[in-house]
Amino acid sequence: QMMLDAQLARENSALAQELQVSQDEAKHDFLTGCYNRFQLEPNFERFAGLAEKNGFPFSYAIFDIDHFKEVNDTRGHLGGDQALRGIAEIVQARIDRRHIFIRYGGDEFILLGLHYDLEAMTAFCERLRVILEERMGGVTLSFGISTWHGGCDSLPGLIARADRALYRSKEKGRNAVSDESEIGAA
Ligand code: GH3
Ligand code: MG
Repeated sequence: QMMLDAQLARENSALAQELQVSQDEAKHDFLTGCYNRFQLEPNFERFAGLAEKNGFPFSYAIFDIDHFKEVNDTRGHLGGDQALRGIAEIVQARIDRRHIFIRYGGDEFILLGLHYDLEAMTAFCERLRVILEERMGGVTLSFGISTWHGGCDSLPGLIARADRALYRSKEKGRNAVSDESEIGAA
């Protein structure tokens, strides 16, 4: 009986481990290891809740590879995939528990920053932009930043303002960071 119990315990823990692995996989993007888009809403809720409860600032960034179609055309789709992985790796190495890093889809990434006001988030993304430009061999990214305005604000609001700021960065000539104050929203 003891041997049987030990055997069952081993099987149990192996199953629990497999379950954990598949739950983790379901949350992550298979190519880059970033969180996938389904992690945006729950993590937004979590950060907005903490921001509201504790009076922390909380900001949102979207970034998008410049002319990624041309990267695919010149380096091939595997080269494009490698660029996506390289970008994710560079960003992962520079974030911590205050951040949630998501591959939203295609060549778009989202970064949530708890404890970051608009100015701090913009400065952080400007540093990322420079590092990515230096390290990615000609691949650059454009950024749009928005910040949480409290209870009257919403995830769709944050997304819309950051999207408009991103559009502004593309208009400026790409490889740029713009924040919501530049689109008359702050
Ligand atoms: P812009 O500077 O305006 O952002 O130009 P862009 O070429 O990056 O814009 P667009 O959105 O037209 O192109 C995105 C490209 O991303 C098109 C698509 O083929 C490519 N793409 C999307 N997902 C993947 C992927 O997983 N791997 C690779 N290699 N390419 C992808
Ligand atoms: Mg793009």
